[in-house]
Amino acid sequence: MVSRLLVLLLLVSTYLSGGIDDDLAKADRLSKKDPTTAFNIYKKAYHQSKKVKSKSGVYHSLYGIISTGRVLKKNVKQYRNSFSMLNLPEYKKYRVSGEKLVIEFDRNLGKKDFRSFPLKNNRFVIDIYGDFNHKTIRVNNKFVKQITLAKYKTALARIVLRSNNKRQYKVSVWKNKLIVETDGKNTLPQKKSNTKIIENKPNKQTLYKKKKKVKTKVIVLDAGHGGRDSGAVGYGYKEKNVVLSISKRLEKELKSRGYKVYMTRKRDRYVRLKNRTSMANKKKADLFISIHANASPIRRTARGLEVYFLSPAKTARAKRAAAKENAYEMNEMGWKSQKMFLNFLNREKIITSNKLAIDLQRGMLDKLKKSYSDIRDGGVRKGPFWVLVGAQMPAALVEVGYMSNKKECLRLQNSHYQRLVAKGMADGIDRFFINSRRH
Ligand SMILES: [Zn+2]
Repeated sequence: MVSRLLVLLLLVSTYLSGGIDDDLAKADRLSKKDPTTAFNIYKKAYHQSKKVKSKSGVYHSLYGIISTGRVLKKNVKQYRNSFSMLNLPEYKKYRVSGEKLVIEFDRNLGKKDFRSFPLKNNRFVIDIYGDFNHKTIRVNNKFVKQITLAKYKTALARIVLRSNNKRQYKVSVWKNKLIVETDGKNTLPQKKSNTKIIENKPNKQTLYKKKKKVKTKVIVLDAGHGGRDSGAVGYGYKEKNVVLSISKRLEKELKSRGYKVYMTRKRDRYVRLKNRTSMANKKKADLFISIHANASPIRRTARGLEVYFLSPAKTARAKRAAAKENAYEMNEMGWKSQKMFLNFLNREKIITSNKLAIDLQRGMLDKLKKSYSDIRDGGVRKGPFWVLVGAQMPAALVEVGYMSNKKECLRLQNSHYQRLVAKGMADGIDRFFINSRRH
């Protein structure tokens, strides 16, 4: 166990170029025995890594500063914020073609961002600077039997390839792809019986699927604001960027769950409110979800997640939130005509939108509360949001948090937090459709 740890430390240390690696390895070794010295080395390594733009160095040293800082009871808030701001490459998908395994990430990788080595029992390890949840993929071809992805301790995520026989692999990176190739040696012929079983299966499955087939649900996602309309602004960040990033994550998540997804905007551009819902109507969407971030100009402490559905506003809070989201286009249609429209709202649609809002809120809270202990439930509320007016399908507006609250604003920039919000919403959408099928 100890020797394996040393091997790992050595590997981590060879990660980076020059003195930074040595320093970090030294700090890792000292972190338990002498946290004060380790803390100072990490700090030095952090500034050097920033200077030479070594992402993995920044990640590793920040991790060290925070963990040793905790032991020493030092104030590392500033470092924690920087750490939460780091955008780690995130696992997307894998592909096996012939003797080649390609693992894709959501952003480009650096040549120094990974390290690979063989392990006993036909295993091969790739440690990579990146972020992904634990996942086991059974590939079962002659090249690789199983791929395991896991979060690894210091600054690293780990990919383990398991094969049927001892193999030599060659690993390289190209843009956002990690490419693993075998040198072809030691290859054993694949058992023939295996292929037979695989060939028999599809027929049965397609028959079964045809029977069970349900219409693919269409969802239109609306990232609020954009272009000349920034939305809420807080601590140097803009609502339009935060909500676009979350919407894109949600789009990806929903597509992976089999939904058809359209976006009212995919980049930073201005889209008129009425064009957002008319797109949803044109695409015959089953759901319309508008994503926003809140702000309170007076109360900096205001925070939490809220989900609104369209209904004449009842509370002052809902009216304020709606006024803020509507502000940019309010002169186009006055409050008076909007109020008139609201009086004609379909009661049934209000009820289903209310249900959708409840499922979205519950999905997000369930996901976030697992990682954050202080998530505030702002509740499901009625609101006269102009962007929801005119949607012919159940619709909801999500306020993912407050840009005016420093802690929440910084969290909203964090990729882990954004991912949880998106996954939570996707869970809520799943639940909504499951529940509505029962009626
Ligand atoms: Zn907004």
